[in-house]
Amino acid sequence: MPKRCSKCKHNYANPAAAFGRCSRNRDGLRYDCKRCQADVQRKYIRRPEVKARRNATNRAWYRQNVERETARKRAYSLTRYHQRKRDKARWLVTLYRLRRDNGKP
Ligand SMILES: [Zn+2]
Repeated sequence: MPKRCSKCKHNYANPAAAFGRCSRNRDGLRYDCKRCQADVQRKYIRRPEVKARRNATNRAWYRQNVERETARKRAYSLTRYHQRKRDKARWLVTLYRLRRDNGKP
């Protein structure tokens, strides 16, 4: 049975996929669709006080995990360094073949 979102008034043919779950409701689904819910979430995390709180939490976590974070970043940049080098070498080979096959210098 199709279901209409109470916020955007859009009709969904497959409510189970378009609506989040809510056990309190008779059909077990929320009143608003996932897209409307995503909008609400997006607006919420963009609120300055929410951003400030999150930044403070993240900063506090970072201060307590500096060494761990430094090691993680170092490991990541090392792998990315070699990956980039490989990608560039492969791309140069491709470029060389393309130019050769097209008869350009
Ligand atoms: Zn909606």
